[in-house]
Amino acid sequence: MILDLLFPNRCIHCNRIIDPALLVCDLCFSQIRFTHYNYFENNPIKEKCGLFFPIENAFSLLQFEEEGLSRKIIHELKYRSREKAGKTLADWTTERLDFGNEKPDLLASVPLHPKKLKERGYNQLHLFTETLSSFYGIPFDHELIKRNHYSKAQALKDKKHRLESGNVFSATQSITDKHILLIDDVFTTGNTVSSVAWELLNSGNNKVSVLVMAVDV
Ligand SMILES: [Zn+2]
Repeated sequence: MILDLLFPNRCIHCNRIIDPALLVCDLCFSQIRFTHYNYFENNPIKEKCGLFFPIENAFSLLQFEEEGLSRKIIHELKYRSREKAGKTLADWTTERLDFGNEKPDLLASVPLHPKKLKERGYNQLHLFTETLSSFYGIPFDHELIKRNHYSKAQALKDKKHRLESGNVFSATQSITDKHILLIDDVFTTGNTVSSVAWELLNSGNNKVSVLVMAVDV
């Protein structure tokens, strides 16, 4: 395509011209810090979530580093309209995560508030989730959870406000007897996944596991 010649795809880190399907060049790829978590064994996410809710399993693809490539990748995906990075991240995930015979029943992504979705134009988790769904053969539901508040960061910080304004998330339908894999971008405090997990656990006899693109703990 003529556009590819005029504006060739470049590595998001070193600016070298690369294949249009790629996000980073080979050299930069070798600098990416993957977590190598074992989904079935204890790891920092499982440990931290375990303090808040009964979690089954957990996985993070990347180790988030403020100065590192992982931050840049997530930033491109969330704030620089590079929606396709979600597919790359999913491909890297499928190369590293094997559910064996304990496949979850459903993939559920953490939603954006509709106002935020309109601003960004896409939910950065959707393509990631859909790519995983087709690879593993597990259905996904982007509508299962709904976000009730717009200014979530403030609302989460301000406990009083949170108590006054009710739950940040709610389940849009009752669901039961499912093992749900909850999907988010960056895991830090665990507040978001815990709030969503409780909605799913309160909804019925469900099990919750967590999968994130990057972990910042
Ligand atoms: Zn590069």
